[in-house]
Amino acid sequence: MAPATVAIVGRPNVGKSTFFNRIVGGRKAIVDSQPGVTRDMQFGEADWGGRHFYVVDTGGIVEDAEGEMDQAIRRQAVSALEEADVIMFMVDGREGVHPLDQHIAELLRAREAKTLLVVNKIDDLPDSTDHLEFYALGLRDPMPLSAASGKGSGDLLDRLIELLPPGGSQTEEDESTLRLAVVGRPNVGKSSFINKLLGSERLVVSQEAGTTRDAIDTPYEKDGKQFIFIDTAGLRRKSRVTESIEYYATLRTMRAIDRADVCLVVVDADEGVANQDFRIARLAWDRGRGVVLAVNKWDLIEKETLTSVRFEKALRRRVPFLEAVPIVFISALSGQRVTRALDIAWQVGQERTRRVSTSELNDQLIALTETVQPPQKRGTPLKLFYATQVGAAPPVFAIWVNYPKDVPENYIRYLMNGFRKAWGFLGSPIRVKLRARRKQRS
Ligand code: GDP
Ligand code: GDP
Repeated sequence: MAPATVAIVGRPNVGKSTFFNRIVGGRKAIVDSQPGVTRDMQFGEADWGGRHFYVVDTGGIVEDAEGEMDQAIRRQAVSALEEADVIMFMVDGREGVHPLDQHIAELLRAREAKTLLVVNKIDDLPDSTDHLEFYALGLRDPMPLSAASGKGSGDLLDRLIELLPPGGSQTEEDESTLRLAVVGRPNVGKSSFINKLLGSERLVVSQEAGTTRDAIDTPYEKDGKQFIFIDTAGLRRKSRVTESIEYYATLRTMRAIDRADVCLVVVDADEGVANQDFRIARLAWDRGRGVVLAVNKWDLIEKETLTSVRFEKALRRRVPFLEAVPIVFISALSGQRVTRALDIAWQVGQERTRRVSTSELNDQLIALTETVQPPQKRGTPLKLFYATQVGAAPPVFAIWVNYPKDVPENYIRYLMNGFRKAWGFLGSPIRVKLRARRKQRS
């Protein structure tokens, strides 16, 4: 099950990002630019009371050129209602109830049960009662907070956790099931791809706003192989809410990636590959997911001999981390190589869970260090003693070294390339961890 999502909405300057930074801490947030807000949306992850959840700081609603405040508020509130499990509606306790707060409250009242009214800048807790006037918004108990000092945040987060949907244990799926996320920019052909595989009738199921988010995946079987397509509901959704701001597209992609074993990153051959495409692929890769790049709409490309070979070469040159990523040229429209793409994704899933025996690994390590010796920085030579695989999906290798800090980045890359040459790991990231050991155990 995906971690729940919490959206922080409210006027500008009420303290949303102050609170966001407090609970997300040092964790890197993804930032997305959107028109109609004071600043970029921020996105991060937080933990409280044993729960892990996503937090979206929506920036702040501003009027557009025509002073169409209503429109902006409506869009932000509606999107938050659709996409988030809990909405933190933040107001400024020092300013009192603002007419805009009234406005936002009206929209949120429809889903009161998942809304948490937070009155920020109540700096003299627990004495202050300034937050009580916000009962006027009709959203049940206002929770006082001083985001700047952190006072009140414990109680607030406790309350928040109560509102999150039940956690559910990490669903122990059958090891033989591949969780596949089809991701990419809008209009590259993601839903066409899934439709081609599943048959359109499978995807056209009734989809009501705000229904439980557990029914969002679609199982699929091919040649006895079990797949689960992640967030097929999210792919459908775009047609339903054309007006909705794209705020949450990034978030949806993140959630899908987090729940997947393998990500099929779809790009548009006709439009060309954009940096955003690589960013998505990179995100999946850095999060330890298997990656397959599907170059779609290949039917639109005038082909000469070697067109795909050239295309592929150019892609790999542009983005070195794609080196280990399989690239497949497809047409979701005609169905060309669509099942091939699925087979490759399956293979990547297998490679990602591969385990290498310790003896095999150490034979390889010895061979690699003999071919290219580790560089020497000090009097004592740098020694790589021993290696073992400490994790799978994706594979992680620990290597014991006398001076871990002395091993340069490019030597680690050399070792990883050697491991790949030996065992493949097609489409899967692999990791090497260096551990300190002074002397070889005798
Ligand atoms: P946002 O636009 O809603 O994200 O608001 P910010 O987080 O950027 O905060 C706006 C201003 O309010 C900043 O100057 C903050 O330092 C200030 N601020 C935020 N939280 C508190 C608080 O709890 N108490 C006080 N006194 N000021 C705060
Ligand atoms: P999504 O937003 O990524 O789900 O993209 P869609 O699946 O909705 O496709 C966007 C548009 O591209 C639609 O008009 C599709 O008909 C078209 N499209 C998708 N795949 C192909 C393809 O392989 N070839 C061509 N020519 N058009 C495609």
